[in-house]
Amino acid sequence: MSEKPVNIVPIPAFQDNYIWCMQQENACIVVDPGDATPVLDYVEKHQLTLTDILITHHHPDHTGGVKELVKNFPDIRVIGIDSSRIPYVTHKVTDGDQVDIPSLNTSFRVLMLPGHTKDHIAFYGDLGLFCGDTLFSAGCGRLFEGSPEQMQHSLSRLTDLPSDTKVYCTHEYTLANVSFALAAEPNNQDLQRYQEWAQGQRKADTPTLPSTIEEQLAINPFLRTSSEEIQKTLSEKLARNVHESLDVFTELRRWKDHF
Ligand SMILES: [Zn+2]
Repeated sequence: MSEKPVNIVPIPAFQDNYIWCMQQENACIVVDPGDATPVLDYVEKHQLTLTDILITHHHPDHTGGVKELVKNFPDIRVIGIDSSRIPYVTHKVTDGDQVDIPSLNTSFRVLMLPGHTKDHIAFYGDLGLFCGDTLFSAGCGRLFEGSPEQMQHSLSRLTDLPSDTKVYCTHEYTLANVSFALAAEPNNQDLQRYQEWAQGQRKADTPTLPSTIEEQLAINPFLRTSSEEIQKTLSEKLARNVHESLDVFTELRRWKDHF
């Protein structure tokens, strides 16, 4: 029996969240449902059964819809870390665990990625990388709980993945991130081209996601701490020599917080 491909669709929520929905035949799973309503509307419209919810971290815009979805699909599995901050998790996972998703005939590996929160995780598998608020296109998550060192290490685990890995993050922050990236690295031609493309996508009301690891390595300043131009920008801005990787990362993150 030939298998149908898994369709991956962003369900928009709130201002700029995407709830990624992976769907095969009449089954689907979602990642980080901050709001139940758009998910319920989507599954009803397409007559789908929601079999699993994946959760990357506890923030309400990633978990707010779980309770309502569980009510509608009592057999659903809720997969996330073991934390009192994420109630309703039925399948607790930790770094390195494999998560099998029978309804889509696929699986994910769990990556522990402290930085945005201290217990943020990502799911990586054949379908791509679902990395919540850790890696964004041309940016990275704010450091609410972790240190710059932790975040940089977490990001390095993602850039170690195969370069063609598709990156599905949770927010459409791309254009704002690109503006910042260009302030840090104005002569990056890949970034200039990417900005034009991303502007076109948004004008057409089309997501800029997913990206790929390869693309992020070319345009994302937080992954480009070895860029001489970024180091020069920071050194001039701060009137000191900024070239060590963690120092560059820390100063970029601090600058972006007030950009
Ligand atoms: Zn968050």
